[in-house]
Amino acid sequence: MDWFPNEESCIAYLEKLRWPTGFVCPRCSSVSEPWHQTRGRLVCHRCRHQTSATRGTIFDKTRTPYTTWFEAAWYMTTAKNGLSAKTLQRTLGTSYRTAWKLLHRYRIAMVRSEREQLSGIVEIDESLVGGIDHGGKRGRGTDKAIVVIAVEIKEPKGFGRVRMRHIPDASGDELIPFVCDVVAPGTHVQTDGWGGYNDLRQHGYVHQKKILSSNDDPAHVSMPGVHRIASLLKRWILGTHQGSVSIEHLQSYLEEFTFRFNRRTSRSRGLVFCRLLQQAVNTGPIIEPDIAHGFDWHHHNI
Ligand SMILES: [Zn+2]
Repeated sequence: MDWFPNEESCIAYLEKLRWPTGFVCPRCSSVSEPWHQTRGRLVCHRCRHQTSATRGTIFDKTRTPYTTWFEAAWYMTTAKNGLSAKTLQRTLGTSYRTAWKLLHRYRIAMVRSEREQLSGIVEIDESLVGGIDHGGKRGRGTDKAIVVIAVEIKEPKGFGRVRMRHIPDASGDELIPFVCDVVAPGTHVQTDGWGGYNDLRQHGYVHQKKILSSNDDPAHVSMPGVHRIASLLKRWILGTHQGSVSIEHLQSYLEEFTFRFNRRTSRSRGLVFCRLLQQAVNTGPIIEPDIAHGFDWHHHNI
């Protein structure tokens, strides 16, 4: 709040993030310094086109002050486990609805920073995540959802980055496209013996199946890396989100978990905050149905 005490300071910062090497007119591509008008409006010297750093981004047409957006981004990136809409509502003094919308828009912005594919040794497995609200009548269906998790394994120990996806079933038709999207070809991929992974070799991976033998210790877990990440994910849903997230928003929560996990060793919280805002001005507008019914991750082809 010291760094960004008012709307002007927030807008100036967003302009720097959006045009790091200087303003470029979105209409005529002119690179000269624009005229600055009130409320962050910029006018191109050459063609008089009017724009702003937030037009066509997740901030588009927002009625929430940028100071509130910035405060939300700060809490979201500095709280060790993130925060729920309820906690953010109390912290910011906004309505629950506003807090919920801010968090969801930022979650959608988070995915774009996770485009680089995993490599080295990568463990992959599916996990059943409970506490998922399917929106149906009580007692009907299951409260679990299938999440496929990929994690880089470091030698001699430790983890690199993770990626995860909510999938409707654990068939090869779901698993193979996930691996092809998030893991670089040539990577050493470890899975259990499940047939859904059979075609990995044909897609250019070095595939190692770890199959439990009958004389293994019953407490032995074949995919210890994924097992560990899954338990952290479940603990986060139970803790920060009181054990309940709706199925239509599950992928958004997975993106937030991934963004935070992949930056867990970042020494500077300020850099993580900056990275989130940078993604936010590089992510297109999010329409109301995306917020109400869950972002359509496949349709937006992110
Ligand atoms: Zn122009």
